[in-house]
Amino acid sequence: MVKAVVGANWGDEGKGKITDMLAEKADIIIRFQGGANAGHTIVNDYGKFALHTLPSGCFYDHTTSIIGNGVALNIPILIDEIKSIRDKGVPEPKILVSDRAQIVMPYHILLDAYEEERLAGKSFGSTKSGIAPFYADKFAKIGFQVNEIFDDELIREKAENVCARKNVLMKYLYNKPELDPDEIVATLKEYREMIRPYVCDVSAYLAQALKDGKEILLEGQLGTLKDPDHGIYPMVTSSSTLAGYGAVGAGIPPYEIKKVIVVCKAYSSAVGAGEFVSEIFGDEADELRRRGGDGGEYGATTGRPRRMGWFDCVASKYGCRLQGATDVAFTVLDVLGYLDEIPVCVGYEIDGEVTTDFPAASLLKKAKPVYEYLPGWKTDIRGIRNYDELPENCRKYIEFVEEQIGYPITMVSNGPGRHDIIYR
Ligand code: GDP
Repeated sequence: MVKAVVGANWGDEGKGKITDMLAEKADIIIRFQGGANAGHTIVNDYGKFALHTLPSGCFYDHTTSIIGNGVALNIPILIDEIKSIRDKGVPEPKILVSDRAQIVMPYHILLDAYEEERLAGKSFGSTKSGIAPFYADKFAKIGFQVNEIFDDELIREKAENVCARKNVLMKYLYNKPELDPDEIVATLKEYREMIRPYVCDVSAYLAQALKDGKEILLEGQLGTLKDPDHGIYPMVTSSSTLAGYGAVGAGIPPYEIKKVIVVCKAYSSAVGAGEFVSEIFGDEADELRRRGGDGGEYGATTGRPRRMGWFDCVASKYGCRLQGATDVAFTVLDVLGYLDEIPVCVGYEIDGEVTTDFPAASLLKKAKPVYEYLPGWKTDIRGIRNYDELPENCRKYIEFVEEQIGYPITMVSNGPGRHDIIYR
């Protein structure tokens, strides 16, 4: 059976923790999109880890971790991550990398930074990991698939072509040093030795695994609102963040995805630019940021302070719908224990009318949040394992959100650890 773990919102909902937890009973965990631009923070018996490329769940010795074809593969970062977990005493993870995955090149990272510099104040707030230039090249058909880099003649020919195209930009648009095909070839030769032990025909491997009845988890990065089609375009990422794309980015039939676990955080946070209707500012935001997540809401990749806001039922209902939620995992609820009263965004007012349907990005600019205020529970709920033991106001908060979004909250996370979970 295949389950997908994906985000409802802007990312950072706690997908890593939920995947790590579900991985206990899984055989295979696959990343199917995105790159090293976002990160998951995972706390387990070995310590605290920020993973950018490896699937969460690589800490169990019974699982196989797979980088699917849909991922933007940064080879040095992958190798460093493998090393860092090995250094902390985690048993050697079993890792496979799709032979169809494409490679993030150093020039993608340069182009990302140069473009952000050129856009200056109007930039996208990119993490400068090369993701947008990488996916642009993939669809322009000038990227390097892993299988290709074992062919000397092919990489030479492709490197020449890449330079011909990129150097126009380097010279005339960015006024930066030109790329050298010899350097690209040398880099690819280095990369092929680094990646060689992991290369696999992943879709064939998964077809067999499905026949054998294995438990497979697809791990999404970011969330619905960062999807290039359904998110807050253009302030989105460059690969689809939806569970449906899991079929493409891993190489499995869509009908094999039986469960879609959508992770929703009990308040909102976002990184990068873009519409965020229930955003809060000043001391109110600082306090939530400081208390949020596990040690504060700061980007796992960049350390940037995240933008903060109250729970947004409009965005989350939409986020769950586009993912096709069969289950909602409601996370980081413990953090809200300090509040007397908790605002929840239940509608958007646009041109004097209130809607609960999340509109396209151009209309979002005009949306003002409509809040309802729920009473807080003013206690620490960490350590509780039974739903009935949660304070009444806490249960009311969960049930209110569930009714507003219209999808079943079957898991409540009340701490960063693997076992901080309440099943309903
Ligand atoms: P992801 O990218 O969706 O995996 O999310 P991140 O890892 O960026 O952010 C989630 C943060 O919240 C991490 O620091 C987690 O350790 C932490 N976290 C996850 N679930 C909970 C929870 O229920 N309570 C608390 N306090 N922290 C949590």
